[in-house]
Amino acid sequence: MTVSAAPPMVKSRVLIAGATGFIGQFVAKASLDSGRPTYVLVRPGAAASPSKAEVLKSLHDKGAIILQGLVSERENMEKLLKVHEIEIVISALGGENVLDQLGLIEAIKAVGTIKRFLPSEFGHDVARADPVEPGLHMYKEKREIRRFVEEYGIPYTYICCNSIASWPYYDNKHPADALPPLDHFKIYGDGTVKAYFVAGTDIGKFTMKTVDDARTLNKSVHFRPPSNFYNMNELASLWEKKIGRTLPRVTVTENDLLAIAADNILPDSIVASFTHDIFIKGCQFNFSINSPEDVDVGTLYPGESFRTLDECFNDFALKLKDSNKDAGSHGNATPNHVVESLALSASCV
Ligand code: NDP
Repeated sequence: MTVSAAPPMVKSRVLIAGATGFIGQFVAKASLDSGRPTYVLVRPGAAASPSKAEVLKSLHDKGAIILQGLVSERENMEKLLKVHEIEIVISALGGENVLDQLGLIEAIKAVGTIKRFLPSEFGHDVARADPVEPGLHMYKEKREIRRFVEEYGIPYTYICCNSIASWPYYDNKHPADALPPLDHFKIYGDGTVKAYFVAGTDIGKFTMKTVDDARTLNKSVHFRPPSNFYNMNELASLWEKKIGRTLPRVTVTENDLLAIAADNILPDSIVASFTHDIFIKGCQFNFSINSPEDVDVGTLYPGESFRTLDECFNDFALKLKDSNKDAGSHGNATPNHVVESLALSASCV
């Protein structure tokens, strides 16, 4: 497929819903870094949570303009879009709030001046991936949002960025917040099915490149960096190299994952159903992206590199070293025995 050259950057006015969330933070930071006027929609009362207040402060300090509201409130959204002359709308709402976007879509339609809408996708191509329940339910809702967007003639871009760069825990919807395992690996199936891993900062950076690029208008943009295409066995070996020792590998079978999904305990069962789709069925690469509706982000921006998974795992190793140092300075050093679920906000997410 021939792709024309990247257009000169236009500094459109951007509104981001869900900027206090996991993916939304990367997108909001990248929007600010790109120099675009960036408005951030927050739910009333969000600042009551100390962690969200901290995120909001850091976005505000970088120049974000904070607006209050719910995307489900059509009239208020319409008013905000008009008053602030918003041109690009990005939604990074969580999986459980996907249908709230219907109010926002109605507002975008009514305003009629929005140049691009990016609904909350940021994962697999929901038109193609077909996970078992309960993951399928979320995809059906994302497909429903796509249907409204397209029926209303709203200019759109769908970001299909695949997996976030981290150890893919089957029971953690934000695995990039946790270190890779330190006692044993859980390997899905035979560990040979590959997936694409993308640093959170790159999800933000490349998303912002697409928003006013004519080549991504009404397209699904796929993130498939060849340097970050790993299977579970390779991922385990990479982490073993970083920590300088080997760990036992325990197999989690296809039936194990299906049983966890069938338990229907949220969000673990949703994550298990996606894990099954990725590491058993190969949902990230079992289709080609040659149709006119698809575009590969690497082809669009050939001069821009992705952070490699190797670099991302270096960051996790540094965090591990720092946490061991901290534990040591408090007299309870536990080198190589930090609990597996130690939550850290690693920089390469
Ligand atoms: P989070 O749950 O972390 O954050 C959701 C954000 O949406 C929060 O800021 C929340 O606000 C806001 N929000 C929710 N409802 C409303 C509403 N009605 N009006 C305004 N704001 C609202 O979401 P994630 O980052 O986990 O998910 C975002 C997208 O990314 C999803 O589509 C998800 O499927 C995908 N994803 C992809 C991953 C990958 O590896 N590729 C990993 C994780 C998610 P508040 O702060 O008030 O709660």
